[in-house]
Amino acid sequence: MDYQKLADLLFPDNKYTVEEIEKKYPKRQLEKGAYVTRFAPSPTGFMHLGGFFSALIDFNIAKRSGGVFYLRIEDTDQKREISGASAVIMNILTGYGLTPDEYELKGGVTVGDYGPYYQTERKEIYKAYAKKLVSEGKAFPCFCKKTEGLNDVKKKREKKFSVGINEDKDPCRNLTLEQIEKNLKEKKKFAIRLRSNGDGVSKVKLYDTAKGEIEMTANCIDAILLKNDLMPTYHFAHAIDDTLMGTTVVVRGEEWLPSLPLHYEIFNALGFSQPKYIHTPLIYKFNEKGNKIKLSKRKHPEADMRFYEKEGYDKQAVMEYLINLINSNFENWRRANPTAELSEFPFNGFKITANTPIFDIVKLNDISKDVISRYSAEKCYEELLAWARENSAENVDYLVKDREYVTKVLNIDREKPKPRKDIYKWSMFFDLFDYMFGKPHNFEIEENKKSDFEDALREYKKYLNLSSKDAWFENVKKMANALGYATDNKDYKQNPEKYKGNVATVCEYIRVAITGRKNSPDLFEIMTLLGEKEVLERISEFA
Ligand code: GLU
Repeated sequence: MDYQKLADLLFPDNKYTVEEIEKKYPKRQLEKGAYVTRFAPSPTGFMHLGGFFSALIDFNIAKRSGGVFYLRIEDTDQKREISGASAVIMNILTGYGLTPDEYELKGGVTVGDYGPYYQTERKEIYKAYAKKLVSEGKAFPCFCKKTEGLNDVKKKREKKFSVGINEDKDPCRNLTLEQIEKNLKEKKKFAIRLRSNGDGVSKVKLYDTAKGEIEMTANCIDAILLKNDLMPTYHFAHAIDDTLMGTTVVVRGEEWLPSLPLHYEIFNALGFSQPKYIHTPLIYKFNEKGNKIKLSKRKHPEADMRFYEKEGYDKQAVMEYLINLINSNFENWRRANPTAELSEFPFNGFKITANTPIFDIVKLNDISKDVISRYSAEKCYEELLAWARENSAENVDYLVKDREYVTKVLNIDREKPKPRKDIYKWSMFFDLFDYMFGKPHNFEIEENKKSDFEDALREYKKYLNLSSKDAWFENVKKMANALGYATDNKDYKQNPEKYKGNVATVCEYIRVAITGRKNSPDLFEIMTLLGEKEVLERISEFA
């Protein structure tokens, strides 16, 4: 077979040769030890937490080594393209501070010399390499219907093209030049498939940086490289793009691990050497029955990065939570360094935890409470406002107008050795503090305590004093005394029958009248912020 002739027949009007392309992608000039990583999502309009997890590792490996982190949009599967999807990806990345060094915005700017950063714009590049492989007898055209629109991840169908297993039944592997010419004359569409050397038995030793050496059966699939719309499959594009664009570490989901032998064979066929790989484990969660299940985009809202955005999860907290899932020593480090910047953590993207990451929202909430408790009230206000601008438009005017008051509300119990830890997402703020912005309507008071409650409030009107915390509490005690409540806790514990309750009971009554709840942050701070007039009105409701 004259392979060069075959290549010319299949690709008569390629724009570039491989040599021309390679000139445009010189080797990156990097400091020793610097890594180049990329985040390579499909623009589906959805960013899975697992994808973000990989991006976080990518970013840290690149930035901590003085390297480059770039964004490549894998949009060759056009049925899945959703307009504006890459803007969503970019927004999420930048929102979390994972801004790529190189990227392209559709219809806008391109930053970086290794683009185009959209795969559909690289079609001519893939065609050049496909032609080269055909000219070397390493790939062949396939006219089978089955290759039409074949999705590269549908391995089952691809298996039908395995060498050794289906070779004689494979209608395309051994077509003659004449047969091919005839098909082309008839305008039959073709895909390009790899002519695999695998025998289905031999083994190959491959390497994953996090998992170590892995022995796998060498590839024996004549996998599709270009689909019959001449767009590349993931496998082919991975080899070409990551080589030309200078990726040195590929961080990707574990679902790609079984394709590693195929990638090895494609890289070899192209004369490329493979980058380092880190296959990130899939993220699981426990379902109601206590079974471990994959965090799924269809079933679990928390699989979607936009969930955190909408709910107002603090970005720093989400990052801390994910780093904690990747590097198990994070928690100890954070305990020892409660105020340190996240960037000070010796993050090691190459040493990701061997355990299956289990997503646990309760844990995220706890981390988030800690993170937010360390913020100043001003920082909280800024974050709250930024969240509201995107997700809670009805609250924006008011937040802007009452900035000072809202900041003070956020400051209740904050600047203390043990600051309050109850906010874990910004959307909670309005419910949590509803009583600071309007009179409560529900009161947590048991039926049988109602008359004591009302008696106490009636009496308290005479004792209200907000001039200082001490004066306030002295008066609460005086009133407790007057109504037969204990002010000496020791005595109360020894002789509870002597009293109606103790001073804590009285405080609870006041708290319920003011906030509607039995639990709240510092009552004196709340009452001071509300002001005497408002406090009196709330008390008078019952007295
Ligand atoms: N587009 C592929 C995916 O979303 C990228 C995998 C990779 O990072 O290589 O799974």
